[in-house]
Amino acid sequence: MSSVVPESQRVPVGVDPNRASIARVYDAFLGGKDNYEIDRQVRDRVLEVAPEAVDLAVENRHFLIRACRFLAHAVGITQFLDCGSGLPTAENVHQVVQRINPDATVIYVDNDPVVEKHGKALLEDNNNTHFIAADIYKPDEVLNHDVVRKHIDFTQPIAFLQVGTLHHFVGDADGPAQIMRNYIDAFASGSYVVISHFFDPENERSEVARKMEEIFTHSPMGSGSFRTQAELSNLTEGLELMDPGWERCALWWPDGPLIGPLTVGQECIAGAVGRKP
Ligand code: SAM
Repeated sequence: MSSVVPESQRVPVGVDPNRASIARVYDAFLGGKDNYEIDRQVRDRVLEVAPEAVDLAVENRHFLIRACRFLAHAVGITQFLDCGSGLPTAENVHQVVQRINPDATVIYVDNDPVVEKHGKALLEDNNNTHFIAADIYKPDEVLNHDVVRKHIDFTQPIAFLQVGTLHHFVGDADGPAQIMRNYIDAFASGSYVVISHFFDPENERSEVARKMEEIFTHSPMGSGSFRTQAELSNLTEGLELMDPGWERCALWWPDGPLIGPLTVGQECIAGAVGRKP
């Protein structure tokens, strides 16, 4: 007997449509279709205090794509471990890097059931790309996962992506830095880390950053910390940062000159790319 619920309205097993999810709220900001009313409500509350907050998600995603293109093309990295990969969107990491090198290996890690469902469907026909469901805040769980061990050679350089993720860590203030240290310790010399994070610019935009933080953390999504330059530097300790170091994602190697001053959304997301010596 065929189901009367259209495919687009079916909710995967393990998903509560009454609780916002980080992946789905981000998808809503990016203009995607894989989100529910509860996710759009979180987005809309943020847009009330910062109408340009969509730029935060868009610039984050563009930064990730530029960094991956650079690592696959100029550096020649062939193994990518993408932590908190998110829902499939217009350009996914494997599409960016396998256009340059079809043999590049990509492993996506996420713990959101909707991401898992879409990720596995998208990758059915791709032997070099894999998805694992794991907790990215537990480096041992990710690094010792069978699929990761099978497909990534840790004696060779890898690209490690922690993009738009650590601001959702809830716990010890030193937690994110410790997590990064544990991951970086496991990588071979010459490996690269791509990281981005909500940013408190410590200027007249700080107040809006703090309002966004307040909404995210008290929403049904429950997380979203804006950190300062000094706090972000702790996350990349021991790495040689590519110029310009930690920078607003919009200004990190833009594809062309920026027209006009930064919006508040562009101001409040920063990224960096670092090399393990
Ligand atoms: N990295 C992508 C990007 O920057 O475009 C997606 C970023 S999205 C804002 C954050 C992702 O991290 C979501 O897909 C969410 O499910 C995932 N995530 C958050 N906490 C996680 C955890 N503890 N373990 C695994 N994934 C997690």
